[in-house]
Amino acid sequence: MPELPEVETVRRGLDAYVVGRRITSADFHGARVVRRHVPGAADLSARVEGSRVAAARRRGKYLWLVLEAPDGHDQGLLMHLGMSGQLLVQPPDASDEKHLHARFRFEDPQTELRFVDQRTFGGVALAELDDDGIPEPIAHIAPDPLEAAWDERAVVARMKARSSGVKRCLLDQSLVSGIGNIYADEALWRAAVHGERPANRLTKPALHRVLGHARDVMVEALGQGGTSFDALYVNVNGSSGYFDRSLDAYGQEGRPCRRCGTPIRREAFMNRSSYSCPRCQTRPRSR
Ligand SMILES: [Zn+2]
Repeated sequence: MPELPEVETVRRGLDAYVVGRRITSADFHGARVVRRHVPGAADLSARVEGSRVAAARRRGKYLWLVLEAPDGHDQGLLMHLGMSGQLLVQPPDASDEKHLHARFRFEDPQTELRFVDQRTFGGVALAELDDDGIPEPIAHIAPDPLEAAWDERAVVARMKARSSGVKRCLLDQSLVSGIGNIYADEALWRAAVHGERPANRLTKPALHRVLGHARDVMVEALGQGGTSFDALYVNVNGSSGYFDRSLDAYGQEGRPCRRCGTPIRREAFMNRSSYSCPRCQTRPRSR
């Protein structure tokens, strides 16, 4: 599943190659890619055509194009990448990808935008924007640590009121968005906090440290995912780019902790795994 840095990499690519252009046609192959747009593919095409792409925006793992209709009304075209969705900027004569589901052509015909998805968990849908410019279907998603609306003190105050484990809080998209399993484990390792520690039992400075590390680790990952903007290829593949070489905890079971040398442990967590250092991140005694 792509997390914030991977989605931000795609957003930057869209910003560079798609924003400012006017859509002349939108074609959808099959019904699955538009299943979140209830009125269907023909309706979506008609609504999108003639619009200018005014911006490419992101909140957490959600990505959308702000489309300005000829009458000046703005709407959000949500691009759900799912597990394996890719947005490609391609010359029109490039042969169709095997799993091509949507194609957007522009007034200037040098390149087109393609939505390719091997597993079709992703898709596109048009939505109204709320007063903050957020598409209505994701209005309940909290700001992420990289956006201007991020208020770390308010998030810490809300975490102090929760008795659930701090890792569950980090993954709760209504509290803070964009942090997934990988970056939660990395932030907790850096802060030397076990993810099962109840949030309300941690001090405010400790919670600030955890959130600060979450932001830092995602910014670093973003820096290392940045190579793909150079080509006409806006790529997300669910991996963390080159950042996997820099991971201190996630996926490192049995390898020595880079701080103390103790082998990293793996523990079951919500049908997935959590990775931590048994020595630096001691488990809470009882829950
Ligand atoms: Zn350690």
